Amino acid sequence: MKGFAMLDFGKVGWIEKDRPVPGPYDAIVRPLAVAPCTSDVHTVYEAAFPKEMVEFPRIIGHEAVGEVVEVGDKVEDFKYGDKVVVPAITPEWRTREVQLGIHQHSGGLLAGWKFSNPLRDGGKDGVFAEYFHVNDADMNLAHLPDDIKLESAVMAADMMTTGFHGAELADIQIGETVVVIGIGPVGLMSVAGAKLQGAGRIIAVGGRRKITYDLAREYGASDIVDYTKGPIETQVLELTGGKKVDKVIIAGGGPDIIYEAVKIVRPGGIVANVHYFGSGADAYIKNELKHRDVLYLGRVEWGAGMSHIRIVGGLCPGGRVRMERLLSIIRYKRVDPSKLVTHRFRGLERVEDAFYLMREKPLKLVKPVVFME
Ligand code: NDP
Ligand code: ZN
Repeated sequence: MKGFAMLDFGKVGWIEKDRPVPGPYDAIVRPLAVAPCTSDVHTVYEAAFPKEMVEFPRIIGHEAVGEVVEVGDKVEDFKYGDKVVVPAITPEWRTREVQLGIHQHSGGLLAGWKFSNPLRDGGKDGVFAEYFHVNDADMNLAHLPDDIKLESAVMAADMMTTGFHGAELADIQIGETVVVIGIGPVGLMSVAGAKLQGAGRIIAVGGRRKITYDLAREYGASDIVDYTKGPIETQVLELTGGKKVDKVIIAGGGPDIIYEAVKIVRPGGIVANVHYFGSGADAYIKNELKHRDVLYLGRVEWGAGMSHIRIVGGLCPGGRVRMERLLSIIRYKRVDPSKLVTHRFRGLERVEDAFYLMREKPLKLVKPVVFME
């Protein structure tokens, strides 16, 4: 079968591989619609993880809706021909980490993320292929209801679950003021998630792509800040009359963005990160360049360590129940994620164009989807 893979850091291309075979609890799925993620771009072009930990070639892509073509003999709820939503995160449910409440890390750090995860330990081939393998199908697939469009469902796989997770990690209470930094597709879903969780004022921080401003307003933002027009801190504090905010969700920015967030959150507030830091900043220690893998925090702004400001970052939740709940949100019209889709392609080979689009981020792009037919 054909797959679109990371061949080396900075290098992608098509490869031929054998079609995967299912274990007793697994399924093989043929994609119906897939979408590239900014995370694929970080993985390929920023060399996010050390080379010795990474496997090449690795088929990329982790957002898919598909059709089951084969199941193992222990699979109960799915059969040949079923249409399914496949979460980006497909944990091993029989692990200690699941009992610890962190299924995203089942079997090790980030190991619940399998598709397109470049790490040799934990990762496997992704969904930009003619077929892909899903572990523990009964626990990791969700049936696609007939009345939900493919392009909406494929947004549940990663964009909704990740964006909403920002709002969950921020533990938003009714009426709180929330800043969402970054309003690409993930940040836009954080805006929607913050609204669902009951936020009062929602301040969205966007940049070059003005198309995201209108969408942010539609999803629930009350105010927009443009990070290209000056420091986020100055602009947010101007809007709030100098008052710091309750919660900040990070869904974009450079290695100093946690520092920017800590500067605007009140004592006891939460900075919730869902951004994938593909690379860090250079660090100078005693005037000597040590390494390039540092994220800044801001010592004084963090109350010299005593601010009670919590900083938390997380990989999106996966699994069947999560997908079923997100499909319910779509079905009952709480949030319409199809508004994120600005570009549509047909045919597996167009995955390449969609991926490059995701790398270039032209001004009219929010999210591309590739339909197989
Ligand atoms: P996009 O690149 O589409 O959006 C990023 C947003 O951040 C845009 O609004 C961009 O503005 C803005 N931005 C860029 N630079 C800055 C800056 N210096 N300060 C403030 N804002 C800035 O990304 P996605 O929405 O697709 O993804 C967001 C992040 O989430 C990525 O890092 C992605 O890898 C990660 N991710 C994490 C997952 C998880 O499980 N935790 C899962 C899926 C994705 P503009 O471009 O308009 O100038
Ligand atoms: Zn992703």
